[in-house]
Amino acid sequence: MNDRRCKPSGLSEPTRLRLLSATGLLEIPKPAYIQRLVELAGDLLGAPIVLVTLVDVDRQVFVGERGLSDEASRAGETPLSHSFCQHVVTSGSPFVVNDSSENPLVCDNPATKELPVGAYAGFPVAVGEQVLGSFCAVHYESHQWTALELRVLAEFAEILSRDLENQLQLEVEKARSDALRRSNEELEGFARVVAHDLKEPLRGIEGCLNAASNHLDESTPIARQLFSHASASALRMTELLQALRDYSKLNKLMEEFTEVDLNQVCDEAVADLRALIRDTGGDVSRKGDLGLTYGNPAQLRQLMQNLIQNGLKFSRPEITPKVEISVVNGQLQVQDNGIGIEPKFHRAIFDVFRRLHRRSDYPGTGIGLAICKRIVELHRGEIWVKSDLDTGSCFCLTLNSSPADEELEPTFESLF
Ligand code: ADP
Repeated sequence: MNDRRCKPSGLSEPTRLRLLSATGLLEIPKPAYIQRLVELAGDLLGAPIVLVTLVDVDRQVFVGERGLSDEASRAGETPLSHSFCQHVVTSGSPFVVNDSSENPLVCDNPATKELPVGAYAGFPVAVGEQVLGSFCAVHYESHQWTALELRVLAEFAEILSRDLENQLQLEVEKARSDALRRSNEELEGFARVVAHDLKEPLRGIEGCLNAASNHLDESTPIARQLFSHASASALRMTELLQALRDYSKLNKLMEEFTEVDLNQVCDEAVADLRALIRDTGGDVSRKGDLGLTYGNPAQLRQLMQNLIQNGLKFSRPEITPKVEISVVNGQLQVQDNGIGIEPKFHRAIFDVFRRLHRRSDYPGTGIGLAICKRIVELHRGEIWVKSDLDTGSCFCLTLNSSPADEELEPTFESLF
């Protein structure tokens, strides 16, 4: 017997109904393979009626059937008043009746007399723990179900349940990748607006400001000052637009994943920061072996570069900046000895454009950590910081992407 655990459920339980409708089996035509399973079960059991049913709020739908009258077969469903299978759903377990006339749940069921249903054995057809219907067999007269007969029904019910789960899983994955594609398209559209549609008018403003400032004479120092502020703001906005564009381009590289040596990535990032290391007099070191991972090399290099750069940039006056990169308990860590970050900002610093300091104190656009977070998310990992004021900061992250990412285990609920 299988070890599936199902839960008792009201017939109108919303998750159950959503799953029921997601199977698409309430509508005709029914899949031929279910009918073949029913036929095979009928041959094995020698029972006159074998059914696969789905139990809706107000009806029981036949998804596969053998032995029903032409009329019932054509109707494709029966009202709940005649349903034995609803008891499989509400109890979340097999419903086995050797003599219907003696079972209090069904002795007054019209089907007991009309069909007649002398004996019934039904097993849950389920998705996860939600029972959608039953794989069942009926004898016209009372019948002592054998262990073997019950096992056959249980196994068939499980085969069908697994198959429904696989189909729904495919739909979940498709819904997921559709959503991802849509969000990428939106992001790219946004980047286009940022890159072109906004940049052009901004250039125009900069040009006008420059031209207008040439017409100001020495007697208007305040106006000159205002013009110079306006120009600086326009320049700043250009920088921010570029930063946003960089951020929104991240998704584009998503597919290019390969095995990556983090030691090499780290060394390359440090090499890229040569000038900054020289200017700050900082000391950047890699401690131990960082190991291999699976990911996008360019993104991981950018991730490492942003974190090291911040470690050098947010240094305390009079203290030589030190940045150490290591792997501790499977976490990549970038530790610095800088100004530190108050715990109340530990999450906010990963937001786009979120900065804790004036630009005159520390330059920057506030996009660096948002980019880091996005890259880590694209590698199915997490990033966080351990820090306090004046104690330095330790940025920790995990990277969990692997070639076997298709083994995602979406929950059926995420369909909705
Ligand atoms: P930027 O460096 O351009 O300001 P980031 O997104 O990289 O933008 O960082 C956001 C903010 O988080 C920074 O402005 C700074 O206030 C804080 N921060 C980031 N890294 C560090 C660090 N290593 N030490 C202290 N503060 C940091």
